[in-house]
Amino acid sequence: MATPVSTQSTSSAPRRPEEIAKACEAIAFDVSFAPVRAWKERTGRKAIGFLPIYGPREIVTAAGMLPVAVMGGGDRVEIVRGDAYFQSYLCQLPRSTIELALGGQLDVLDGMLFPATCDVLRNLSGMWRMSFPDKLVRYLDFPHDHRPLVGMRFWENDLRALAHDLGALSGIVPDETALARSIALYDENRALLASLDALRVEAPHRAPIAEVYALVRAGAVLPVEEHSVLVREYIAAAKAADRAPRDHARVLVVGAFCEQPPIGLLVTLERAGCYVVGDDLCLATRLVGEQVATEGVPPFASLARAWVEKARPTASRYLPNEEKGRWLVDRCRALRADGVVLAAPSFCDPALLEQPMLQTALDRAGIPHTCFKYAENTAQLQPIYEQAGTFSDSIRLFTEAA
Ligand code: SF4
Repeated sequence: MATPVSTQSTSSAPRRPEEIAKACEAIAFDVSFAPVRAWKERTGRKAIGFLPIYGPREIVTAAGMLPVAVMGGGDRVEIVRGDAYFQSYLCQLPRSTIELALGGQLDVLDGMLFPATCDVLRNLSGMWRMSFPDKLVRYLDFPHDHRPLVGMRFWENDLRALAHDLGALSGIVPDETALARSIALYDENRALLASLDALRVEAPHRAPIAEVYALVRAGAVLPVEEHSVLVREYIAAAKAADRAPRDHARVLVVGAFCEQPPIGLLVTLERAGCYVVGDDLCLATRLVGEQVATEGVPPFASLARAWVEKARPTASRYLPNEEKGRWLVDRCRALRADGVVLAAPSFCDPALLEQPMLQTALDRAGIPHTCFKYAENTAQLQPIYEQAGTFSDSIRLFTEAA
């Protein structure tokens, strides 16, 4: 039997933010997926995995299953067989994901969705089909034409087909009413995460990035209602905590949308003098940050429209007529960021191909930036500490001199 994982305090005293973050860390980084196993045992239902940067969680939930964002094995998995599946010049995430699957940790998932994030994940979807023929496997091909009667309709039809396939697996084919209910749950979660982001912008010392990241990432494996309870609790605890502000630079971290950096790297950034006031970490559960439900628009159409019109710009999304890097400059200004840390996974084609264009946009706007590469199992953090520390110092000196 799976060990039950508690998201709630066992005492009546309010938890401190660091206690909530600790509990979230245990949930988020458990590569045995005990929280998912416990949920399945409790409910007798199924779970569906998906990879970054997107899975239509609302449909999975409406079909009575648990959506689980799989973001690799991080620094907690030793890669043995995974290296045999991928060339050495590719990123780490697919290796650790297939390692987890071959090791049986992902047996808990009854199906897997592969979004069209990059060629590597497309190849991984083929491997999955061959390696796990009894499991449901779907490839999600996003629309590149964003016109309502073309791309949006195509995507809506795909979402309906997916709902049908998921329903055949779970025994519950989601209709418009069930999907509307599910979207409402996720919209509540999105509103709470927006409040959390607002707190980070107004008072970043109250919500350190490592805590925020653990909290957000716990949402990858928890039912959305449980995650919302945690986010609400954390916001209240962070606002009440006695934490003094420090003379840190305010930075935006960009490029970490798929393979995730180790949490130690985030701690290192803050220790080096950077408050992370915005990021694209854990995008798998946050690609759409705005409210999805749209008055007068049926739920499937709302969900299709959300991906086309409300999803965040990122290197893996094709955006017609978008001036490259404009969104990043605008976001920096909106978050009052002093600079940008371009942090890309090693060998990540989408992130690294976009990086020079983002740098050009930042240079034009006069926004300082620095860049480094990481892998999910990077252990050498001292060079990053030195680089981020120098960046933070130079920002503060530059700002004071201006
Ligand atoms: S880290 Fe980059 S290259 Fe690797 S799977 Fe993700 S998007 Fe693709």
